[in-house]
Amino acid sequence: MKAAVLTEQPGELVIEDLRIDKPGPGEVLLQVVGAGLCHSDLHFMEGLFRTHLPIVMGHESAGIVQAVGEGVTYVEPGDHVVACLSIFCGRCPQCLGGHPNRCANPQATSRTEGASPRLSRSDGTPVQQMARLGGFAEEMLVHENGLVKVIEEMPLDRACLIGCGVTTGFGAAVRTAGVQVGTTVCVIGAGGIGLSAIQGARVAGANKIIAVDLSPAKLETAQKMGATHVVDASQTDDVVGEVKELTGGGVDYSFEAIGRSATVRQAFDMLATGGVATVIGMVPSKDEVTLRGIDFLQEKKLQGSMMGSNQFRTDIPRMIDMYLDGRLLLDEMVSATIGLDAVNEGYQMMKNGEVARTVITF
Ligand SMILES: [Zn+2]
Ligand SMILES: [Zn+2]
Repeated sequence: MKAAVLTEQPGELVIEDLRIDKPGPGEVLLQVVGAGLCHSDLHFMEGLFRTHLPIVMGHESAGIVQAVGEGVTYVEPGDHVVACLSIFCGRCPQCLGGHPNRCANPQATSRTEGASPRLSRSDGTPVQQMARLGGFAEEMLVHENGLVKVIEEMPLDRACLIGCGVTTGFGAAVRTAGVQVGTTVCVIGAGGIGLSAIQGARVAGANKIIAVDLSPAKLETAQKMGATHVVDASQTDDVVGEVKELTGGGVDYSFEAIGRSATVRQAFDMLATGGVATVIGMVPSKDEVTLRGIDFLQEKKLQGSMMGSNQFRTDIPRMIDMYLDGRLLLDEMVSATIGLDAVNEGYQMMKNGEVARTVITF
């Protein structure tokens, strides 16, 4: 099967023909229908985060079950599924404590060391899977606990977006921060994740939702998603001041959806007394975040969010219902649909800041 492989860091993706194994115990073989281009793959392609090579990139996919391995009871061939990288074991303290997105036992849902690899080249070289999914490929072989069944009315080239970006942003607002009705929110960064956080804040009933970005086109999209106000960061050197002015002193909830220490600082500084800043973006591992200590006396909080604190097997079907009844906007987030061969061009468009989300269809 064809897949987009990262062979060096930094580097572009190379389309290769790979061998995919039969599903082992607990595993499911999928035919991929749609795959979203998420920013975190780009971080690996740019070498900001290290990984074992070669690796099939992509982790935002939806498809149809082809075959299941021994012991799989959750899905059967023909089922429509969305993959999520929050693959849970279901028995570690994090999973049992209600936080399967933090599962601390990835071994339980991976092949054992020394077993034949899920993916390999024709010469036998093992090939890794991004986030244990590897979604930029015609087929995927994944653990059943990384999948959620979805209803067939849901188009899979839209459902894939919920697998990572939408769950991450929407969940950060609704689950991690728990945005309350009537409150004020600011989202820094109006890419796929930020737009999803804006939608989460809208569905949760926030009164004011301020979007901050450098791109006027993205700010326009943000307004369609539910932003009530926008701040064009290319036109001001005082984003924090503008947000405070719009809200009479600061927001109840801020979200950083870029992954830079400077914008994390802005997210914290723009809070009202008692406000909560949630960092969704992946800040490069060498970077530190500096805060002014006295602000903690105002009971401001700073917290992280991993994959929107999801419980994806319940969250994703709910989000699909919201899409089907018009409350969750996904079509409006997709600015381009491409083939697998154009994956590098798709990432170039993302780097140029031209698009919210690009979807690969197969
Ligand atoms: Zn992602
Ligand atoms: Zn677990």
